[in-house]
Amino acid sequence: MDNKELWQSVLGELELQISKPNFQTWFKNSELVEKGDDYVVIGLESAFAKEWVETKYDKLILKIIRNFEPEIKEIRYQIQSSNKPAIIATKKKVELPQETESLNISEYSIDPKTNLNSRYTFQNFVVGSNNELAYSAAMAVIKELGKKYNPLFIYGGVGLGKTHLIQATGNELKKIYKNKIGIRYVSTETFVNEVINGIKNKRMEDVKNKYRKVDVLIIDDIQFIAGKEKTQEEFFHTFNTLYENNKQIIISSDRSPYLLSTLEERLRSRFEGGMVADISYPDFETRMAILKLKLQNMHSDFYISDDILGLIAEKFPYNIRELEGALTRLLGILKIRKLNPTRQNIESLLNEITSQRVMMIAPETVVKIVSEFYNIPEKDLLSHSRKKELVKPRQIIMYILREYLKYSFPTIARKLGDRDHTTVLHAYNKISQQLNKDHLLTQEINLIKEKIYNKH
Ligand code: ADP
Ligand code: MG
Repeated sequence: MDNKELWQSVLGELELQISKPNFQTWFKNSELVEKGDDYVVIGLESAFAKEWVETKYDKLILKIIRNFEPEIKEIRYQIQSSNKPAIIATKKKVELPQETESLNISEYSIDPKTNLNSRYTFQNFVVGSNNELAYSAAMAVIKELGKKYNPLFIYGGVGLGKTHLIQATGNELKKIYKNKIGIRYVSTETFVNEVINGIKNKRMEDVKNKYRKVDVLIIDDIQFIAGKEKTQEEFFHTFNTLYENNKQIIISSDRSPYLLSTLEERLRSRFEGGMVADISYPDFETRMAILKLKLQNMHSDFYISDDILGLIAEKFPYNIRELEGALTRLLGILKIRKLNPTRQNIESLLNEITSQRVMMIAPETVVKIVSEFYNIPEKDLLSHSRKKELVKPRQIIMYILREYLKYSFPTIARKLGDRDHTTVLHAYNKISQQLNKDHLLTQEINLIKEKIYNKH
């Protein structure tokens, strides 16, 4: 039996043993890539499929394959992707695409019909370990529009590529389907305003029609819907209408559905029922690949060696927007000051750029960010009310001011509505202790911290 025949036989068995949707989702386009003495290598179409098959079906496949080839002891999996992004960041060599579109003209062109920005494509999106799952999920959505991965829920911190990924998905669909389907991208902020205005001007019908008629609805930063009851209500109905008609919904958020605490339960469970994928911090290789791609797209006159790019990549591990911004600024300064990109010049310019970032962060900023994060008015946080839902966020503010921003207990007490400084001390100890046990709290505080640092 050659590899192809062997795999066909295995698939034939598998098809009988697992459900049809599962079979099609995970084993479509799979192949047997290699057969060794006691192992085989199976190629699957995405990282997502690989992860899934490896954890769920490994034993079953092994059992079946041994019916045909008893000496096989191990199955290895690899990704056989057909939808190639610009670059796959690997530990080895990073390959750049041969031709790149000039981004200058289309940099900010927004298509009025879809509201999609043409600058966000997969051709200029680097796939690395941080976004591999989210990327594969987006690919899966493109292939099975509206059917299987609905809604697609992408979450991750600031500047990590959520908007880029969901808009690129929209742009890709536009390319594939031309004008045959209706696609609509909207930020949650805009959606909220439209609903508010719709109610005020008695034009809710227009809003309803606009969003309930599309085939693909892409909604960015859904966390901003928290606490806005009317908008949640409208969104819930829009969501259901689309969902029931097998229309695709793609959502981004700065936190997992689980942490969308002020969201109505029924909406949250809808989100969790779909495909949820996160985007995390890019590793060094991914950051390097992003810098190279950006450099190439800027058509800069400078040649910058990997060594020197590495200096930049090292400095900005937590935010791709900052990483890109730093590169643009560096090149700008080099040009204006007529400097060469030597190691020494880059190092000193990097210091210049990053030192401007580290400013004193005012307690008011922290209060504002925590207020936005939990969707609680600032004045309530500063009040002396002991309501449970206020106490925790207030203690988190105190903790952050002390632990990360190094304010003294008395200063914190004074800034937060003239309290006793022992209250602050108590809050600090309490949160410190809880952090050890409560990983959700850790996640929340990390998200808040990220927002604070990203303000600067
Ligand atoms: P978010 O919506 O998560 O805050 P964005 O999607 O706005 O982040 O991304 C911030 C910037 O970083 C954008 O300019 C985007 O094009 C760029 N970016 C993010 N991720 C990638 C990536 N994987 N490859 C290339 N550029 C990226
Ligand atoms: Mg965004």
